[in-house]
Amino acid sequence: MLRRLDLRSGLPRTAELRGLLPRAAVDVDAAVEQVRPIVEAVRTGGAAAALDLCEKFDKVRPEQVRVPAQALADALAALDPAVREALEISIERARKVHADQVRRDVTTSVVPGGTVTERYLPVRRVGLYAPGGLAVYPSSVVMNVVPAQAAGVESLVLLSPPQAEHGGLPHPTVLAAAALLGVDEVWAVGGAQGVALAAYGDGDVEPVDMVTGPGNIYVTAAKRLLRGLIGIDAEAGTTEIAVLADDTADPVHVAADLISQAEHDPNAASVLVTDSEELLAAVEAELERQVAATKHHERIKIALTGPQSGVVLVEDIDDGVRVVDAYAAEHLEIQTRDARDVAHRVRNAGAIFVGPWSPVSLGDYCAGSNHVLPTGGCARHSGGLSVQTFLRGVHVVEYTEEALRDVADAVVTLATAEDLPAHGQAITARFGR
Ligand code: NAD
Repeated sequence: MLRRLDLRSGLPRTAELRGLLPRAAVDVDAAVEQVRPIVEAVRTGGAAAALDLCEKFDKVRPEQVRVPAQALADALAALDPAVREALEISIERARKVHADQVRRDVTTSVVPGGTVTERYLPVRRVGLYAPGGLAVYPSSVVMNVVPAQAAGVESLVLLSPPQAEHGGLPHPTVLAAAALLGVDEVWAVGGAQGVALAAYGDGDVEPVDMVTGPGNIYVTAAKRLLRGLIGIDAEAGTTEIAVLADDTADPVHVAADLISQAEHDPNAASVLVTDSEELLAAVEAELERQVAATKHHERIKIALTGPQSGVVLVEDIDDGVRVVDAYAAEHLEIQTRDARDVAHRVRNAGAIFVGPWSPVSLGDYCAGSNHVLPTGGCARHSGGLSVQTFLRGVHVVEYTEEALRDVADAVVTLATAEDLPAHGQAITARFGR
């Protein structure tokens, strides 16, 4: 089922290796051109245009952008108690982890009379995206809201696509999760039009300073297009899993985990990196058996057989580490002997899941870790959603007259070296020189 890339004769240099590894046929750049007219329509047509686009893509036109407060209360009251309990476990664990990420302001005394304080200021108003196309994601409500609240974001709006079978409101479990977390502003708008409306606003629909959260390729493309006008988190697009496994891995687990992430989207990527032909054969057999028995087998099969998925055969686990570093997966599982040591050597991944008892599904819901993670190789330079995403470090500089006088010559010398003499004069003017 998985296409093969055999690199047992040796690995090429990293740049070439990256080009060989499985990647989606349609990348975010291509999708940017598809969403450009959508973003432009919302820029010029505002909320009405966004609602029209919902009708086109979600097959329902919400009555209004903002979900009425009563609908949130009703969704929470009607929430299945078992789902409520599971959400509460997820929230409690996520809060525990994210509380530890909160930054304290740091003041450095550079010289006597000269201090620099790094103040961490939360972004004021943020749009949090919870997907709702092929699946609905109350878990993404938790993963967005918990760090934003821990960071002290003052104004939160949750965006999620309207559902035709729920009268044009987002899915009731998404609404219930918002209510459970104390979020009272929810918009029934998703996709690129939702991100654009959040960026531009319209009348009473107040724009945001930043949009975070996962989404499909259109949501990701809209975030890339609007970056600058708004802040974004890392591009948390279509899901990817890489499993680095040797002959000690259980093929039943490996296959189940590859399938679990393929379930998100026909464009999802599942990549196995192994040095064991025996494991590969067993995983292939398990995939045949397990996929057929899975509810969403059609899109799983498309995802597993697409150009974005496959198996990479390597000579040994050292080469495997180089391959997963070059790939920079959103989710990376290490299912090898000495898994913790191997994981320690990995540099590029959105999140790393170590050993047989830490599957990605645990991280999707209840590990306490955040599931909004960089895709498309962005894990080479970016991390997942965290409290830090919502904070800006602002340097506050305060020098006394003496402290400035002490360093004046150095500032003037550097200003002169850069041919910016007015910079130097801003110093000398203070000392009557
Ligand atoms: P979604 O809310 O992301 O996207 C649905 C919206 O896409 C629709 O409302 C519609 O507006 C828009 N759309 C659909 N077809 C379109 C088209 N042809 N042109 C323009 N817009 C179109 O929900 P989804 O589709 O279920 O996708 C959720 C995604 O989130 C999956 O790809 C999943 O893998 C990903 N995900 C990523 C992470 C992460 O952290 N990286 C976490 C969870 C989920």
